[in-house]
Amino acid sequence: MNPRVLVLNTGGTIGMCRSPDGYRPMAGFGERLAGMLHVRTLPAFEVVEIEEPIDSANLQPAHWSRIARELLKRWDDYSGFVVLHGTDTMAWSASALSFMLRGADKPVILTGAQIPLVEPRSDALGNLEAALLFAAGGQVREVCICFGRHLLRGNRSSKMASMDFDAFGSPNFLPLADIGIDIVLHRERLLPAAARAFRVPELGADAVAVITLHPGISARIVQPVLADAAVRGVILRSYGVGNAPDADQQLMAVLKAAVARGVVIVNTTQCVTGRVAQGAYATGATLSRVGVTPGADMTLESAFAKLHFLLATEPDADAVRLRLGQSLCGELS
Ligand code: ASP
Repeated sequence: MNPRVLVLNTGGTIGMCRSPDGYRPMAGFGERLAGMLHVRTLPAFEVVEIEEPIDSANLQPAHWSRIARELLKRWDDYSGFVVLHGTDTMAWSASALSFMLRGADKPVILTGAQIPLVEPRSDALGNLEAALLFAAGGQVREVCICFGRHLLRGNRSSKMASMDFDAFGSPNFLPLADIGIDIVLHRERLLPAAARAFRVPELGADAVAVITLHPGISARIVQPVLADAAVRGVILRSYGVGNAPDADQQLMAVLKAAVARGVVIVNTTQCVTGRVAQGAYATGATLSRVGVTPGADMTLESAFAKLHFLLATEPDADAVRLRLGQSLCGELS
C-alpha cells in the first residue's frame, strides 16, 4: 500500500480565521490548504473535518472518544494519521489518545499552529509538512505531538510556551525526533511494538478533578470537590517530590475520607521536571498513609487522561490504583 495519510481536522488556530473577537474556528481547512500547496511535494493525504472544528479551549473529555472513533473507523485505510488540533489542550488529547490507542501499529501525529494557515508568517505549513512525513514514514508507531523543532511522545508532552513557535516540550522524556535542516529520528526512544489494545470508552465529563496545593489551602476549600458525587478521581498537584501541608489535620482527614469512599487521588508534582517520591519527606509520607497514589513522573495532562481512562475501563478503585503505577504506553519512567 502506498503511504496515504488521513488528516483529521478537529480545530485550533491552524484552521482559524480573523473575526471581530479575534481568531475563530472556520470549516473548510482542506480547501484553504489545497490552494497553498501547489508548489510542495508531500506524501499523499486526504483531509476530513469533524462537523464543527473547535477552539480547543472548549475541549471536553468526550471529544477524546470521538477523535479516537474517527481514527479507528478508517484505521485500515491509511498508513498514518495526522490530527490537527488547537495547541491549548493538544497535550491533554495526545495523552488521552495514547491510552485509547494502546499498541497502535501506525503513527498518530498531532499538530497545529501558533499562527493560522492563512496569516503571514504562519507556522502551519512547516508543522503540517513535518507531521505528514512522520505519519507517512512507517517508523513511528505511537501517538505523538509534532510541533516546531521536535517530535515528542504525546503522553509526555506539555504546552510550555504561549508565544513561541516551539510551543511544546516533554520535560521528563527526550524528544523522539529533532527537526532542523535534517530530521533526526531517535529510534531507540520509540515505543517497542506491542499488541493492539484499542479501547474507546465513554468518559464522564467531570469524573476527574484537579486540586493544586498552595499555601493556605484548607479542608473547606477542597471539600466541595471531594464530596461531589460525580468526581471519582482527583489529581493532586503537590509540592516538590510530592509533599503536602500535613500539619493541617483537617485537610488530611478530608483526603482520607474521600479515599475511603473510593475516590482515587493521584499525587503529581507542580515541578516541571522530576518525579514524586512520596516517602522522601514526612510531609509526603503522610499522603501515603492517607491512601494517595504516587503519580511518578507523569505530566498533569497524562495523569489526568490516564485516570479518566482507567476509571472508565477498570472494574474498581483498587485496579485503577494498581494500573496507575504501571507504564501503559510510555507515560512514566
Ligand atoms: N486557542 C487555540 C486552540 O487551542 C490556540 C491554538 O490552537 O494555538 O484551539
